[in-house]
Amino acid sequence: MIRQDVNRIDAKRRAMLDYKKKQFATPTYKQQDYPYRLNFYDIPPTAEITLEQFEQWAIDRLKILAEIEACSFRNKTAAETAAHITPLLQKFLPLSANTSSASGAADQRLKNERQKDHYSHFILRLAFSATEDLRRRFVRAETMLFKFRFQQDDSKERRAFIESLNLDWEVVSDEEKRELAESLVNATPGLRRLDDESWYKVDWERVPELVERRSVYLRKGKAYVPGREQLSMIMAEFTARLDRAMELTSRALPRLDEDDRLTPILNHLSKNFGSAESVYSEGEGVVDGAPITASSVDHLSQHFPLCMRSLHMTLRKNNHLKHFGRLQYTLFLKGIGLSLEECIVFWRQSFKGFTDDEFNSRYKYNIRHAYGDVGGDVNRRGRGYPPYSCQKILSESGPGVGQTHGCPYRHFSVDNLIGLLQSTGVHDKDVLRGVKEDVEKTRYHIACNRVFEWAHKAEIKKVKEDGTWSQTDLDTIVHPNTYFKRSYLLKQLGKPSNTNN
Ligand code: SF4
Repeated sequence: MIRQDVNRIDAKRRAMLDYKKKQFATPTYKQQDYPYRLNFYDIPPTAEITLEQFEQWAIDRLKILAEIEACSFRNKTAAETAAHITPLLQKFLPLSANTSSASGAADQRLKNERQKDHYSHFILRLAFSATEDLRRRFVRAETMLFKFRFQQDDSKERRAFIESLNLDWEVVSDEEKRELAESLVNATPGLRRLDDESWYKVDWERVPELVERRSVYLRKGKAYVPGREQLSMIMAEFTARLDRAMELTSRALPRLDEDDRLTPILNHLSKNFGSAESVYSEGEGVVDGAPITASSVDHLSQHFPLCMRSLHMTLRKNNHLKHFGRLQYTLFLKGIGLSLEECIVFWRQSFKGFTDDEFNSRYKYNIRHAYGDVGGDVNRRGRGYPPYSCQKILSESGPGVGQTHGCPYRHFSVDNLIGLLQSTGVHDKDVLRGVKEDVEKTRYHIACNRVFEWAHKAEIKKVKEDGTWSQTDLDTIVHPNTYFKRSYLLKQLGKPSNTNN
């Protein structure tokens, strides 16, 4: 792994260093023991891991960060966020307390968990240090993750961890406390007696959040922070260190271009922040036992996300779709489990103005190609191309005149988008206002999830209450085929199975 020794050098020396020369100092192997559950990620990992671990660990962490960010975008409360990410953390990035380790096997599990946490953090640092926007989002999501874990930590272990950080917080002496008694009490809401609290003195820039909230007494450039605000101080410290580390990583990044094993993985990861495409595997959108045939597509389209609904509506209106729309829609239909034969029937019946010969010569080959039935790419023979993820649809070039592919949240004007939503039955003013806000902030898939949650409100409430679906079954949708499958299954609740609904 890449070392960042410059990070632990004092500020004056650091300013004089030539990072291009120093950032890849020969790594010295250092065994990490992980005595604490929490980690400030000051020391980069240097032991070897496999390329598979490198990628999979990063994907697992990315999934967590993307969900944390989505919760924040959707203004979920701290309690809602905790309820949402706890099972995801358990699944993708568990991190147990020392007290859970009572045997040799448990010790090893603890170490494995902490190693994965440590490495995945550093891998994503590399992936997200390229631009200021990515750095900012990464630091924000990581800080939220750290805060969540900090609050969940066993209090004894948490205290030991804080002591291990050697933070240069100066404890305010009793004498100074008495001298500033009135100011300290006035600046600490709810405090009755001076002796009920202890204070730390830190440079005021290190606790901007507390300064902004006017929760600290300021004097001669120092903030007097009450012990109860320890969480804020720790968070500020975590963020500040990570901000600095990300800066250094971004300067080191050009050298990494030389590594053609890691660069494609890192590029792929950075493209998927917010809509972690990699967690979708081919075939995942198929609903076992559902009647997916050419003749059922009209009926099933009520469960389609807006991108596919829009394509379907245009197809029915014009009896035709242009190439990219056909491709996007064909791959989606393949992803929901429509067989190649049924897909050909579907398109043949939909293209009403064409003779069989015209259809066969102009369109049939492309459908077969999408399914991998024909075509030159040996690797894809028999499988064809995977259905497009939101990330792919959102990032590829949008539709031109007469085209309908893409994502309506991203590629339609706001008026057209709202009109389309209304034509599909979304009339709730709050939802439409929320969608507009999401779109303005370029949070397209959040808008899509907002509509999904509204359209399935009763069903989601039910599966949550009766516990039949876990939180991981209800994570943020980042793939049109996940949208379909989830919608279909939710709307099937309480109906006899194998019905065409
Ligand atoms: Fe389709 Fe994804 Fe856009 Fe929703 S966010 S409409 S699923 S591309």
